[in-house]
Parts: sequence; structure tokens; C-alpha cells
Amino acid sequence: MQVLKFGGSSVANADSINKVLAIIKSNNNKKVVVVSALGGITDMLLNSATLAEKADEGYKTQLKDLEERHLEAVKKLIPVQQQSGILSLVKKACNEIEDICNGIFLIGDLSARTKDRVVSYGELLSSQIINAALNNLAIKSEWVDARKLIVTNNNYGMAAVDFIATDKKIQEYFLDNTSNLFLVPGFIAADKSDITTTLGRGGSDYTAAIIAAAIDASFLEIWTDVSGMMTADPRIVSNVKHIPEISYQEAMELSHFGAKVIYPPTIQPVMSKSIPVWVKNTFAPQAAGTVIKNKVAENDSPIRGISSINNLVLISLEGSGMVGIPGFSKRLFEALANAAINVVLITQASSEHSICVGIEDAFSDKAKTAVDKAFEYEINIGQVQPLLLEKYLSIVAIVGDSMKNHTGISGKMFAALGRNGINIRAIAQGSSERNISTVINTADVKKAINILHEAFFETAYKQVNLFIAGLGNVGQKLLQQLKLQEQFLLHQYRLQLKIVGIANSKKMLYKEEGIDAESYRTELENGTAMDIQELSLLIQNKNLRNSVFVDVTANESITFVYKDLLQKSVSVVACNKVAASSAYLNYKLLKNTATEFNSLYLFETNVGAGLPIIGTLNDLLKSGDKIQKIEAVLSGTLNFVFNNYNGEKSFASVVRQAQKEGYTEPDPRLDLSGTDVMRKIMILAREAGEVLEMEDIQNNSFMPESCMTGTVEDFYASMEKEEAHFKKIFEAAKSAGKKLKFVASYLAENVTQKAMVGLQQVDDKSDFYHLYGKDNAVMFYTERYPTQPLVIKGAGAGAAVTASGVFADIIRAARV
Ligand code: ADP
Ligand code: ASP
Ligand code: MG
Repeated sequence: MQVLKFGGSSVANADSINKVLAIIKSNNNKKVVVVSALGGITDMLLNSATLAEKADEGYKTQLKDLEERHLEAVKKLIPVQQQSGILSLVKKACNEIEDICNGIFLIGDLSARTKDRVVSYGELLSSQIINAALNNLAIKSEWVDARKLIVTNNNYGMAAVDFIATDKKIQEYFLDNTSNLFLVPGFIAADKSDITTTLGRGGSDYTAAIIAAAIDASFLEIWTDVSGMMTADPRIVSNVKHIPEISYQEAMELSHFGAKVIYPPTIQPVMSKSIPVWVKNTFAPQAAGTVIKNKVAENDSPIRGISSINNLVLISLEGSGMVGIPGFSKRLFEALANAAINVVLITQASSEHSICVGIEDAFSDKAKTAVDKAFEYEINIGQVQPLLLEKYLSIVAIVGDSMKNHTGISGKMFAALGRNGINIRAIAQGSSERNISTVINTADVKKAINILHEAFFETAYKQVNLFIAGLGNVGQKLLQQLKLQEQFLLHQYRLQLKIVGIANSKKMLYKEEGIDAESYRTELENGTAMDIQELSLLIQNKNLRNSVFVDVTANESITFVYKDLLQKSVSVVACNKVAASSAYLNYKLLKNTATEFNSLYLFETNVGAGLPIIGTLNDLLKSGDKIQKIEAVLSGTLNFVFNNYNGEKSFASVVRQAQKEGYTEPDPRLDLSGTDVMRKIMILAREAGEVLEMEDIQNNSFMPESCMTGTVEDFYASMEKEEAHFKKIFEAAKSAGKKLKFVASYLAENVTQKAMVGLQQVDDKSDFYHLYGKDNAVMFYTERYPTQPLVIKGAGAGAAVTASGVFADIIRAARV
């Protein structure tokens, strides 16, 4: 004999019930079919009863809707001529529900017993309707009231089964019964006095397992709305993988820790008889599904699945009086058991100072009262503190039989969570080593499950979520480069860089499923108004794993959110120089925040655009080298200007050309004044360990004072007026056979003037002499490179190279 159970979504309406009928009809084997209430009906019944209890007449509308749904199912499933019997049955049941609710409304009281009575109608109705639909198809089936089969205690809402009495009744009923098909309402049972009880939410699975075990069924089929058990809840993780086989113990752990696909107690009865369980999809009956059985093949990952439970409260009993005295835990658990509070998780500090237990939020008040009462004496004399409660927590558990044969799994789990700033409040590992559970804030659950899923199952690729602010020259080039490299990174590095947020100065757009780097424009135009604080909050609230904020603006206000983001373990990649060149304390604070919260603050493009200058400096220092001196030409703009200025075209027009070609800051005065170079040498000196501010840097500016006031256009006009000044500088160098370079230097030795910038005439023996176009060059003189410096040279400005430097930082932040 087979037992088949169809869940609420499988019997939600006439269309899905027709699918159920087809599955039942597909063979002639003798079978028991257990059904849930029509999807959502149990909630509606509970809701109606609760409204009635609160004297809210809204229950009447709920009940009308409920009746409507059942009548509609009947009308669609059964031809008019055959409807009358089942229609009157439905109407009668609905009247009874209404009578009970009216009673609740009048007395304003809803007992657990009455609640069970009310919800039982869900399964009673669905099973009778499906039975009638089968009979209508001339398939003979026998409706059996589960209350005549399953005997429980009277713990209403979650009644415990009396297996001896139950097995006997089931066997007596089915074994000599010649009918070939039975229809049984799931979830409901009765106590010894024939009062209706229920087996706990989701309990229809359990009904089916109890029957399967009692009659030694060849297997149990659980028909639901997913094609078997998955490596995580498909509503939380989009890349879930199908689990073809799973052991009873693993399935039990996964469901205990929240995998709703199977109601936890379901496994026990079938496991005791080694009856395999198939989890199948009513809406895709051909799909393989999952088989739950004794021995299963190992899979690629040492873990089988990840699950989570929300609404957890950690209760802690703490106090010096607990040390070394046996019996404290016993009394705590006794107090909880006596109050019928289910313990989900236990941890105890080895100091024995505290025991910490996870329970469902619904039991918080009860637990507080019960435990404080049990320890009243110890609390009064100060040996133990009153029970502490921490709310809004969840458990995330990884489960797998073969975890015990693998080392480093918990390390991998905690490292992955830690890297993403997920705070772990408590940890438990069963001695069977079949699960490791962590307690975290509920707000972090989705992120945590996705991180763990990626770490344990998606060797295929790692997803990094990018938020890009700034869509100017560099921003647009960056988007193009991201698009071009998409496939390469996916295939070669298993890295998926997903742009989930973009913003320009006016608008911002967020799309968790990803923004196309080519066709984002219209969508962005329809986005919300750009507000950097809001964007920062959104990034923090969305709490996506591996988040990276990319600042390709030159805007100071954007830098104000770096710290908050770094604190939430969101890495920051900035081509914006404002933060790294702000007050030293701010620069240091950002660096320290990143270290503390395991995020990265990367700004390679602040110096030399895409050239690997900061990275090289860091590598030298990390490997033990010491910087003695840095000499550098760090302004692509100034280099371009002096390489192109030969006294023929005006100096101003060469600067204008540099701006047009995108080699200047948005305000070119920052380049021409030497301020930008000062910022860069300061950043390098700071990275080398120097505490330096802008005012500590000497700037031997070549610009006449008169050029530096007014608007950018005033600036160009005054440069035209000063053409003679620029020409003089040029001619002086030319006549000496030298070239003009704007050089920055930093000296590590103990001198008063550590850093300076200024225009120099260089001869052909200098490494800077042969710098063309917009090139930059940096010379590091170090302990290991004392006389012949380590030189980095190449284009130091331009949107494409800057974007590629930002891109390289993003890859660094992805930590692949
Ligand atoms: P039914 O109404 O058939 O009893 P449930 O809603 O109780 O169905 O259970 C099926 C649901 O369980 C799926 O739709 C899915 O969202 C959820 N679920 C949670 N964890 C898992 C998992 N690991 N594998 C499959 N489904 C899961
Ligand atoms: N109808 C019940 C519930 O919604 C039992 C079940 O569906 O398994 O909890
Ligand atoms: Mg279910």
C-alpha cells in the first residue's frame, strides 16, 4: 500500500486539485491519500476565530470568503447535477464554523480546544470535496475521518500521538479493508474523549507518516509545490540546488531548523520502519523529486542543506551562584518543560556562568514567568539574575551527515559570515556533528543564507553586488568595461559582478536582480531623486552579501557615507580623492574602520589613475621594505600641458585642450595650482606611514595669483592675459636644454620639510625627462631599491585607465 499526501498549495483551487486527481488516477495501486486544507484556509480560520475573540465582526467577511472559495472549487470540479450532496455538506460545515465563531464573539474567549475545533474544518472540507470529485470521476474512494484513526493527548494545537492506540486503530481500519482508495483529512486527530485535536502547523505530513508507518506502506509520497528538497529555501536563495537523496537524519535536522517542506515530526515514524519518503512536485510530476531514506550517496559538498528559523528568542540564565552546583540546568529545563515550552537550541558557556536557550518568541512571556519563579530564591539572594531575553533573532543552520568527516567546515562558515559583517550571537553544534547552528539577527538571515549557500554550494561563481555612484566619464567607461568583462570573469574567475545600484548627481536606481550596464539610462531617469544618505541607508538595509560601494565622483558629500558603509562590512572603492586627502584623522579613521569591520577601503586611482602605485607601495611595506624617498610626476594634466606647450599656442588653450580630452579634474585649477599633486603625494606619504596634512606640504606654484580667483572661465581669461609669464618659464627651460616637469617629492628621513611639489627643469639624465603625453612616473627609493629606484610609469590620467584602476580595486574587493 502507498500513502500520498498533498499539501495546501497542491489543493489550493480546482485547477490544482485536478492535477492531484490526475496523480491519484495514474495507477491502480491501493493507496491512502492524505490532504491538507485548501492553501491559506487554516490561516483564515485562525484569523476568523481570533477576530471573533476580539469582538471584531470582520470574522464574518473572512468566513464568507472562506465559504466562497470552497463553493467555487466544488462548482469547478463537479458538474451541476452531481453537486448537491457535497454543496450541502460544505454549506453545513460553513454554518457550523460560523456558529462556533459567533459563540467565540459572544463570550470573547477562544480556548486552545476551540481553536482546534475551528481549524479542523479546513481539512474536513478539502478532503470531502476531493473525495466527491473522485467519486464523480467514477473512481471509488472511501472518506475516512482521521479523528477515528489518530489518538492524541489533549495538548491542543500540538497534540502528542499515542502510537500504540493509533497504530492499532489504523491497522484495524485499513488492513482488511477491500477498498482500493481512501481519502483522509490530514492535521486533525482526537483525544481519548473524542475531542478534536491538531498535530501542529504543517501537520498533514505527519498524519501521512503515521499512517504509512502503521500499515508498513512501501513508501510515502509528499506532494508539494517544489520539486523536492533543495539546498536552501527557494524563496530565499535563487540558485538553490536540488537534493536527489537525503538521509532521514539530515531531513529531520533541516526541517527542525526551518525547512518547511517537511513538518519535522514526520520523519520519525517512517524512519523507524525504514519507509522511504518521496518529496514530489504536484505541478511537475515528472521531476525527480527527493528521496529520503537510510543510506544515501555523498554529494560534492560536505553539507546537504541550509535552513533557518525566525522568531527566536534567546533566554539566558546567568549568575555566579550557578558555578559548580549541579542541577541548575535540570531546573531550568524542568521549568520550561512544565510550561510546555519547546527548546529549539541550547548552549552553555564552559565557565558554567550561564546557560543560554533558544525558544520561540511566542513563548517569551511564559518562559520569563516560569523560570523566574523556579529560581525565585536564588534571584532574591542575588546568586542568579532574573531571566534575560533577547529578541528578533533567528537560527541559521548548516546540515550534513558527512560534516563529521571533514575539518574546517565551521571555520568556513564563520569566516564567510564574518567577512560580511554578520554578528553571531550564539553557536551550537550537535555531538552527532550533523548540524552547526548559529543565532544571528533576523535582519541578517537572507544575507547569511545566501553567503553560506555561495560558500558551500556555488563553487560555480561568487556574486559581488556593486553600487556605483557617479556616471561621468570614468563611471561610464567603468560600466562599459564591466559589461565587456562579464563573461570572462564569470568563466575564468567564477566571479559575477552584479550592478545592483547606480546613481548620478540627479537620480538613483536600485534593482536587486541586476542593472544592465548598457541599457540603464531610461530606468535611471525614472529612478528616485539622488540622496546620498538615502542611498547609504538602502545599501545598509538591503544588506546584500559581498557589497561594494564604488565612488566615481569627485564630490565631497559622497565621502561622508564611507564610514557607515565600511562599518556594515561594505567595501568602498573610491576614485574620489576627497576622503583619502582629507584631514589625517579622517583618513586614518576610515582605514581603521575597514580593518575593524573586515571591509576594504581601496583608492588606487587616487594616485596615477590606473597605474599600480598604491598597491605596489603597500606590497613593498607588507613584505618588510622601508620607503626612503618618493619622487614623482603625478599630474597627467600638468605633464600633458607642459609636453604640449611650446610657446606657439597659448598656455590657456593647451589647458583647455587637456580639459576637453578629460585629463583634468572637473575644476582644472585643482591641477594647475598643484593642489591635486599635493593631495597625491600626501596620500602616498600617508600610505607609507607618515602623519601628514596638506599644510605640511610645500607648494612652489608657478601659477600667478591672479589666475586663481573667479570662475573657470575667468581662470582661462586670466591665463590668456598672463601668457608672457608662461612663455618666460618655457623659454628659460628650453634655452637650458631642459624640460619642465611638475615634480612631487617625499622624504622619509627626519627633516622638517618632508614633502614638496613644484615645477622643475629636468635634463635628459632624469627619469622624468622622457615622460610623454599625460604620463605619470613614480620612483620609490627604498631599503631594497636604494640607488636605482623602483619605477612605475605610464598614462596617469584619462577615463579609460582610471576606470580600469577602479575595476582592479573592485576585483580586489571581491576577494576571489
Ligand atoms: P505544502 O503546502 O505542500 O505542505 P509547504 O509550504 O508546507 O507545502 O512546504 C513547501 C515550501 O517549503 C516550498 O514552497 C518552499 O518555499 C519551502 N522550503 C523551505 N525550505 C525548503 C527546502 N530546503 N527545500 C524545498 N522547499 C523548501
Ligand atoms: N492545514 C494545516 C496548516 O496549514 C496543516 C498542513 O497544511 O499540513 O498548518
Ligand atoms: Mg507543509
